[in-house]
Amino acid sequence: MLPERRFVEKSDKMRPLLFYLLIGICAADEGWFWHVTDFHWDFSYWTDQLSCNGMNISKPGAFGNQWCDSPWSLVEESIKGLRLVQPNVDFVLWTGDTVPHVSDSHLSNDLNKELVMNVTTLMEREFPNTKVYATFGNHDNYPSNLFTPHNSDIYNATYMIWKTWIDDNSQVDNFHKGGYYTVKIRDGLRLVAMNSNMYYTKDTVILAGHVPPGYTTPRAVRWMTKTFNQKFVDIVLRHSSTIAALHFGHEHHDSFRIFYDGEVAVATLFIAPSVTPWRYQLPGGEVEPAHNPGARLVKYDRQTGKTLDILQYYADLDTVNLDQQFVWTLGYSATAMYGVPDLSVDSMHKVVNSLSDGSGSEFQNYVKWYNTNGKNPADLCNALCHHVVMCGLRYMTEKPFQQCLHHSTHT
Ligand SMILES: [Zn+2]
Ligand SMILES: [Zn+2]
Repeated sequence: MLPERRFVEKSDKMRPLLFYLLIGICAADEGWFWHVTDFHWDFSYWTDQLSCNGMNISKPGAFGNQWCDSPWSLVEESIKGLRLVQPNVDFVLWTGDTVPHVSDSHLSNDLNKELVMNVTTLMEREFPNTKVYATFGNHDNYPSNLFTPHNSDIYNATYMIWKTWIDDNSQVDNFHKGGYYTVKIRDGLRLVAMNSNMYYTKDTVILAGHVPPGYTTPRAVRWMTKTFNQKFVDIVLRHSSTIAALHFGHEHHDSFRIFYDGEVAVATLFIAPSVTPWRYQLPGGEVEPAHNPGARLVKYDRQTGKTLDILQYYADLDTVNLDQQFVWTLGYSATAMYGVPDLSVDSMHKVVNSLSDGSGSEFQNYVKWYNTNGKNPADLCNALCHHVVMCGLRYMTEKPFQQCLHHSTHT
């Protein structure tokens, strides 16, 4: 420090230059983090294929099959692959659902804990000097989807597993109480890792969690109960000035939605696609299109938490199985694809407006990447589908969403 100060004192002429240099340094305070979600590790992939939708897969691929959850090889290589693409990240967000889509009779408290433990150990091995901020998914509890609100065995056990990452003894009560916690990423910027509860401080926050609020489209399904969804949205609107961004998982598709306060866009919820290629088979036999494993590298402003870009990586499952080698391929940069300077809420509002043209390239790109493959789906999103998607992007609560749907189907 001293030599520079002497230098500046000696030469007044240098002051403007130093000033600009400092501005340059501040403007360049950009960091990266990985967001990875929904591994759904099927420990029976090579044997009983418990997650495979009742299909009999005679030649299961080395890194997975689109009817099944992830084999260990996909879990392992996908995490190793993150390090190969970019090892120098500020932290990793891991937003839950480690347990496969299999019936509870094949699971147990101990087994679920073991699955989470093994993936945790792998993360620690591949990112030994990086904090991983992990949250629960709805499948991680036993029985699945039923989280006890207080002091469950799984909270206590998982706290011990994630303790070194959380690295703050003051969070033990929160975690034991509800599986949630908050950590300071740096001065002024905080991460809130949610389970079903949230709270705020004066810092700017990045909110990370598993089940997102709002409606997944084009299915038009709300995951949260109506009351909790409304409560969640109200809280985000009330505190939007301190929320830099929300990063969630659960849907397995690449998507986002905007929180609007009246006409004003105030926060963006980014939804990362899953690592598992498992596709939904809906009651009645309807199936969702196949999708590839994905992971995303998020560029953010370390001072404000603002999202600057998303580099979306994917693994073409057919190709990596054929090559017997797993590799993450860059699918897109969100700023380049949507033609915006960053992913601030103002920019995302512009993106939403550009998507309102159903035949425009922006909406076509959205549709192409929804299934993490960059290809046009077999049945393109038609005009009705486009309307539903737009309603989901703009409206997070029951009444406005239903009004939007009603409007769209009658005009
Ligand atoms: Zn999931
Ligand atoms: Zn889930």
